Amino acid sequence: MSVEGEIRRFRKDLKKARATSPDEIARRLPAFKCRRCAKCCRGAYGDNTVTVFPGEIRAIMAATGREWLEVVEPEEDGDVDGHGNRQAFEWALRKKPDGDCIFLEDGRCGIYEARPFICRTYPFYLDEGEIGAGECDGRSGERMSAQEARAMAEQLIARSVRELEESVGLLEKLDMEAGRGATGLTVVHDSEGSWLVGERSGARHFRGKARR
Ligand code: SF4
Repeated sequence: MSVEGEIRRFRKDLKKARATSPDEIARRLPAFKCRRCAKCCRGAYGDNTVTVFPGEIRAIMAATGREWLEVVEPEEDGDVDGHGNRQAFEWALRKKPDGDCIFLEDGRCGIYEARPFICRTYPFYLDEGEIGAGECDGRSGERMSAQEARAMAEQLIARSVRELEESVGLLEKLDMEAGRGATGLTVVHDSEGSWLVGERSGARHFRGKARR
């Protein structure tokens, strides 16, 4: 499918996502009660990667006083292009050397008020209006209160809308030649454009606007 075709498809999905009823989603949510075990934040219990949108990164920067690349890094996957640069399409929260989220402090989220959608909605997600769920000890037995379920449903819909907006924005700005003139870097494409990410002086990361 062409990029224009993809954008049209995402816009159609976006219209549907915006029209989703939170009451309907809340009614369909399976049993779940967060046990505050923080396993979803830890590296020892499976993939704890948290991908984030530019707006979420800014909210965390404002809450912590950290710089962009102190909060996130390019996603790990991504093919190497003809210039020798890796092409990435998502940002992910940084992790500690043991694999735990960099914001996990004494078993609690250190950026709770500014935590990303993925953390707010774990273990659930919406896929074309259907509720999906990841592994979680909280999924056995106890149910959320009606108020909690409604709040979860609202967050799930907001996340789905934001994901689709990000996809449209990314495709509208996509420039797969953004890394020309550089080599050995990562080019991250997001809804705000294309960014070159690498290391300067051996260790210091930098992020700069790629040429358009
Ligand atoms: S941002 Fe907070 S809730 Fe999300 S993985 Fe990190 S510590 Fe856990």
